[in-house]
Amino acid sequence: MTLGIDIGGSYLRYEIRDGERSLQHGILKSREIGLCTFIKEMLQEEKAIDTVAVSYAGQVQNGTILSAPHIDVDERGIKATVERDYDVELLIENDLNCAVMAEAQHYDCDTIAALSVGTGLGLGVVDSGRLIRGEEGMATELGHMPYMESPFVCSCGKNNCIELYCSGSGLAHWKKHYGLDPALTLEILEQSSQREAQKIYEAFHEAFLHAAGTAVTLFNPQMLILGGGIGKNEALRLKLEEKLDTYAFPLGVKNLKIVLSELENASLEGAFLLKEYHV
Ligand SMILES: [Zn+2]
Repeated sequence: MTLGIDIGGSYLRYEIRDGERSLQHGILKSREIGLCTFIKEMLQEEKAIDTVAVSYAGQVQNGTILSAPHIDVDERGIKATVERDYDVELLIENDLNCAVMAEAQHYDCDTIAALSVGTGLGLGVVDSGRLIRGEEGMATELGHMPYMESPFVCSCGKNNCIELYCSGSGLAHWKKHYGLDPALTLEILEQSSQREAQKIYEAFHEAFLHAAGTAVTLFNPQMLILGGGIGKNEALRLKLEEKLDTYAFPLGVKNLKIVLSELENASLEGAFLLKEYHV
């Protein structure tokens, strides 16, 4: 039995599966409980769980959480701690890496990129069937690509990350900066006649095009999947269709398919694939 978990800046979603069969699922606010505490509570309750598979919105390597910009971490060495106390295997991987594995399987596509705009800006890439992780699991950290100086400090400590312009947390910074209502969505910002609202909206799109263009130029995927609470958006997809060739190497755009994610929760789906993908 596998306990799959997807934890991001806002929510912790979980599901228990026995093979393909879903037995239980739920959702909590991620600030309410630490990941390690949650896992231990679930393992106390359900003794038949033998695998815990976690999709994590942060940088992880060999079962250790290296950094987590939007999550309060209650235990960094999570694999060692849980495996020491319980007879289970714990697998943990970056959430966008999980998402792109699920998309690769869903579309039966082995060279594919998943670009997500949610609390943060993230990218996952599978190339010729292999996940691109880098030496320390930091590859494809697109959100922290140097872009333009801003008046804010990113969760990584720099003030020039592209995520500061193109993400939910970035939008929140800018709305506060200009004294705008924090509840304004991208659509409302677009329709607003206020100059500051227009400015945020335009800066978001410019950064989004740069981010997508860089992903396509560097990785030349067959498909680019848009996901995340903000990124899974037909208007953004059309914007890429229209303008991506001026932000990316044009040949890389020519045969590129740009689609919105069809999976309800690609990261959680990907967590359940970790056993197949990982050693
Ligand atoms: Zn950053």
